[in-house]
Amino acid sequence: MPAAKDSALNSERSELERLFGKRLAADLATLDLHTVDGLLHHYPHRYVEHEQVTPLSRGRIDEDVTYVARVSSKEGRVVRGGTMYLTTIVFTDGTTDVGATFFSKTEHKVNKYVKELKVGQYAMVAGKLSRSKFAGGPVRELVHPDVRPLPTPAGGSTEAAKPVPIYPATKKCPSWKTEHALRTIIDPLQPGDVADPIPGELRAEHGLMSLHDALRHVHQPATINHAHQARHTLRFHEAFVLQSALARRRLDARRFDADPRPPVAGGLLDALDAQLPFTLTAAQREVAAELGDDLAGAHPMQRLLQGEVGSGKTVVALRAMLQVVDAGGQAALLAPTEVLAQQHARSIEALLGPLADPMAAGLLRPDGPRTRVALLTGSMGAAPRRAALLAAASGEAGIVVGTHALLGEHVQFADLGLVVVDEQHRFGVEQRDVLRTKAAKVPHTLVMTATPIPRSVAMTVFGDVDTSTMRELPAGRAPVATHVVSQNRPGWMERVWARVAEAVAAGGRAYVVAPRIGEDGGGPAGAAGSAGATGSTGSAGSAGDTDGVDLVTEEGAEKAASDLIAVLELAPQLAAEPALAGIGIGILHGRLAPEEKNRAMADFSSGTVPILVSTTVIEVGVDVPEATVMVVMDANFFGLSQLHQLRGRIGRGDRGGTCFVVARSGGQVSKQRLDTFAGTNDGFALAEADLAYRGEGDVLGRSQSGRDSSLKLLRVIEDADLIEAARVAAWAIIESDPDLAAHPALARATLTLIDPDKEEFLDRA
Ligand code: ADP
Ligand code: MG
Repeated sequence: MPAAKDSALNSERSELERLFGKRLAADLATLDLHTVDGLLHHYPHRYVEHEQVTPLSRGRIDEDVTYVARVSSKEGRVVRGGTMYLTTIVFTDGTTDVGATFFSKTEHKVNKYVKELKVGQYAMVAGKLSRSKFAGGPVRELVHPDVRPLPTPAGGSTEAAKPVPIYPATKKCPSWKTEHALRTIIDPLQPGDVADPIPGELRAEHGLMSLHDALRHVHQPATINHAHQARHTLRFHEAFVLQSALARRRLDARRFDADPRPPVAGGLLDALDAQLPFTLTAAQREVAAELGDDLAGAHPMQRLLQGEVGSGKTVVALRAMLQVVDAGGQAALLAPTEVLAQQHARSIEALLGPLADPMAAGLLRPDGPRTRVALLTGSMGAAPRRAALLAAASGEAGIVVGTHALLGEHVQFADLGLVVVDEQHRFGVEQRDVLRTKAAKVPHTLVMTATPIPRSVAMTVFGDVDTSTMRELPAGRAPVATHVVSQNRPGWMERVWARVAEAVAAGGRAYVVAPRIGEDGGGPAGAAGSAGATGSTGSAGSAGDTDGVDLVTEEGAEKAASDLIAVLELAPQLAAEPALAGIGIGILHGRLAPEEKNRAMADFSSGTVPILVSTTVIEVGVDVPEATVMVVMDANFFGLSQLHQLRGRIGRGDRGGTCFVVARSGGQVSKQRLDTFAGTNDGFALAEADLAYRGEGDVLGRSQSGRDSSLKLLRVIEDADLIEAARVAAWAIIESDPDLAAHPALARATLTLIDPDKEEFLDRA
C-alpha cells in the first residue's frame, strides 16, 4: 500500500475515533469499519419486528450468535459462599430455550441492562454459545452475553413498533453497538448533506427514495416496508453508479487514439486465408469481420470474445494479429500458463507454415510476406530470452507469444498494435493495463474466454467492453460422449481402464485428471466437494511466476482435502492396472520444472507416452487432436465450467471422444451436477448451471476477497433486470453528458469506481 493511502487510512480512522472515541472506534474496526462512509453503507442483514424472534435452535456450540428472544424466567442468588452473585435468565423462542448466566460481585453490581430485563420482555442477546454446566436448565447457554432490552410494543406507540435492524456482529461489536454508532451519524443528517448521484427524474421514473431517505430507512426503518424500499433504492444505486462508471470507461477508451490497422491486400492475412486447411465457420467469419473493422478504426478496440471450447478462437485471433502485422505493427498474445504459451507459439507457427520465417524482418519481402513468431516465457534461459526480447524490441517479431513474463518491465515493443489475452479469467484488468502502457498509443485489445459469462455478469464485469460470441463448433466434429462413473461400483473402473487401453490401441491418447498433486502436499483433510473447487473462474490474482496460476489451483486442492485423489499416487496405481500393461504413462503438474513439463507434453503429443496423468494444468486450451479419452477422478471437486474446459481437451479431431467423470458416492446435489454435465456439451448452458450451483459470490469472487466491495446489496443474477434498467439509464446520461458536468454527485461516485485502485472487484470473474 502506498504511503499516501496509508496516511489517508489513518486519518479516516481517526474520523470514527473523533466521533465515537477510541473504544467504540476500535470495536467498529473489528467489523472492518473505519470510515463514516463505510459505516453508512454497512447495512443490516435483517430486521426483526417486535415478537418476531430468532429460532434459538440456530447456531452451533462455540459460535457467536445474536438472538432476539423473550425472557421466560429470571432469577438471582448469592453463590460461592457469599462472594458472588449469579443471575440466570432463560430466553425462549416458544420452542427452544437458551440460558444466559451473569456473575457479579453483588446484586447491586448487576449490569444495568440485565437488571432492567423482566420476564415476558423481548431482548436482543449476543454471545458465544456453550454447553450448559447446570443440569435441569436449557442445554445451551451464553455466559456473560451482551443483552439489550427491546422496546415492548404494549403501549402501541409507533416508536415501539419500528423494526429493529440486526447487523453482522463480532464479539467486540454486537449489533446494537453498530446501531448506536449509526444513530449518532444519521440523526443529525439533513437531506442536503447527502449528495444523490441519481437524478430526480430517474428516481421518479423508478419509484426510488432519495439517497438520504434510503440511508435513513435502511438503518432506522419506520416500517418494514420502508426498509424494503430503501434496500431497493440502494440496490439500484449500486447498479447505476457501477454502470455509469463502466460507461465512462467505455467512452474514455474512445477518447484515446489508436493507430488504425486496416487490412492490406496481398499481405500475410490473405496468404493465411489462402492456405488454411479448413474453411472458417460462419461464427468465425462473423467475429473475424467485427475484429477487422475494429482494428481499422482510430480508437482502441476493446473486445471480449466468448467462444465455446473448441470453437476455433486461435485462428480468429491469428487473423487479427496478421492484419496488424500487415499494417506494420506487432501483436502480443498472452496465455495463462507456460504450457499453453508454448503450444500457442507452436500451433501459430504451424498455421503460418512458410509464412513464419524465423529470420523474417517483420515486413513485406519481395518473395512474399513473412513474419517471425517469438516466444517469451518466465523459465527461458538467458540467451533465448535475450533473443526474444530483441526480436520484440526491434519489431522483427510480428507476433510475440508469452505468459505473464510478457508483462515484465524489460519487454519493449517496436510498435505494439494489438494485445490478445487468451483465457481472460486468469488475467486482471490491472495486468492488461500494464501491457497497454507499453505502446506509445493505446493498442487494440482482444480478450478471449471459453468460460461463457451469463449476460448479467457480463454487464457487470465487462460492461466497458464490446462482446462477440462463438457458439458454433467447426463442422465434422464427432461429439464427445460423457459418462458418470461411480468409483465404488465393482468392475466399473476396470471398464474405464479397458476403454482407455482400446483408445490407445487405436492410436489415440488419454488424459487422466486428478485434483491433487500429492506427496508432501499434506494439508488437513477438510471440506471436499464442489465447494472447494475454485473453478476455472477463480482469480489467480497477480501470481508473479508463470506457473503460479496452476499452482494456485493445485495448492487450493492440496489444502482442500488431502484424501482427494493425487496424480503422484494415481500414476503408479495405473501402471499396475492389468488393462494398461505395457502402455506408457506420463505425469504433468505445476510443480514440475518447465523442461519436464515440455517433455511430458511432447511425449504425450507424439504418442510415445499415450496416457497423461495430470492436474488441471491441462485445463485451458491444450490442443492434442489425437486425444480421445478423458477420465476425471474425484470429478465432484471441480466446477462445471472447469469440467467443460477439461472435456474440451478431447474430441478435437474428427474421431470424437469419451469423457468419464468419476465420483465417489456423494450427495444428491453432486450427482445432479455431474448428470447435468454429462447431459450437455453446451458450455453456455453449463456456465449458467454452474452459477446456480455455486452462487454468485464465487463468480464475483467476493467471498475470497473479504475486501470491501462496492456491491453490497446487488445480486448479479437475481437483479439482472434492475442492472439492465440501470445500464440503459446510465448510458443515456453519460452519452449526453460524458464529463458529467451537470451531474457532480454521479461524477464523484463513479470516480471512486474508475480509480484503478478500487477497481479490483471488476476483475474477479
Ligand atoms: P478454442 O476456441 O477452444 O481455443 P482452438 O482455437 O484451439 O479452439 O481450435 C480447436 C481446433 O479446431 C484446432 O485444432 C483448430 O486448428 C481447429 N479449427 C479451428 N477452426 C476450424 C474450422 N473452421 N474448421 C475445422 N477445424 C478448425
Ligand atoms: Mg484456446
